[in-house]
Amino acid sequence: MRLQKFMAKAGIASRRKSEKIILDGRVTINNTMIKELGFKVDPKKDIIKVDNKKIFLEKEKIYIILNKPVGYITSVSDQFNRKTVIDLVSKVDQRIYPVGRLDYDTSGLLLLTNDGDLTYKMTHPSHEVNKTYIAEVKGIPNNEELKQFKEGLKIEDYITSPADINIIKKDKGKSTVKITIHEGKNRQVRKMCEKINHPVIKLKRVSFGDIRLNDLREGDYRFLTDKEIRYIK
Ligand code: URA
Repeated sequence: MRLQKFMAKAGIASRRKSEKIILDGRVTINNTMIKELGFKVDPKKDIIKVDNKKIFLEKEKIYIILNKPVGYITSVSDQFNRKTVIDLVSKVDQRIYPVGRLDYDTSGLLLLTNDGDLTYKMTHPSHEVNKTYIAEVKGIPNNEELKQFKEGLKIEDYITSPADINIIKKDKGKSTVKITIHEGKNRQVRKMCEKINHPVIKLKRVSFGDIRLNDLREGDYRFLTDKEIRYIK
């Protein structure tokens, strides 16, 4: 790669400005000053310094939204050889990993990235990022059950934080509810619904923070737009 291109990619300056920096004698390669424009560097082997500070290529950050189907595990690999969400994005060259998890039997919005800072921000409990789910549950929750769900439920050794639940459709013997929580304990939505005696039949995540699944088809993925990336950063 040409030196000025490497410098631009490393975020030092534009190619044009990098050329000036080279001509000014501020760049060394393997401790030798290089003033030749277009000098070829090997980013893997050469030590390139500007003003005596080593510079690196920024790893390109990738942000993907996937509509995970049921029957895939949210993991990079599986000891039992089950299908993983990475199988669904196998065309992507870079090493990416899921942000948080969805159960094997849950579908919907899953983010994948190679940006560790984002993973921390979106999944650390202190950041309280809202996650919204559409759940089909057995029966129709009554007002008292909805109130308990919203106020907090005792599950195993913890009490859930206030959550949101609204019935959006009533059917014979089942209903569809929209649930928003900001915690992310293992199988939390399922356990909360179970606790109010309305076990989950089907579960789908439709939003994560400000990112919405909208009409992305099951099994499909796309790169987040710049606007969406700004929302989550
Ligand atoms: N809550 C659950 O119970 N399962 C999921 O996959 C996500 C949230």
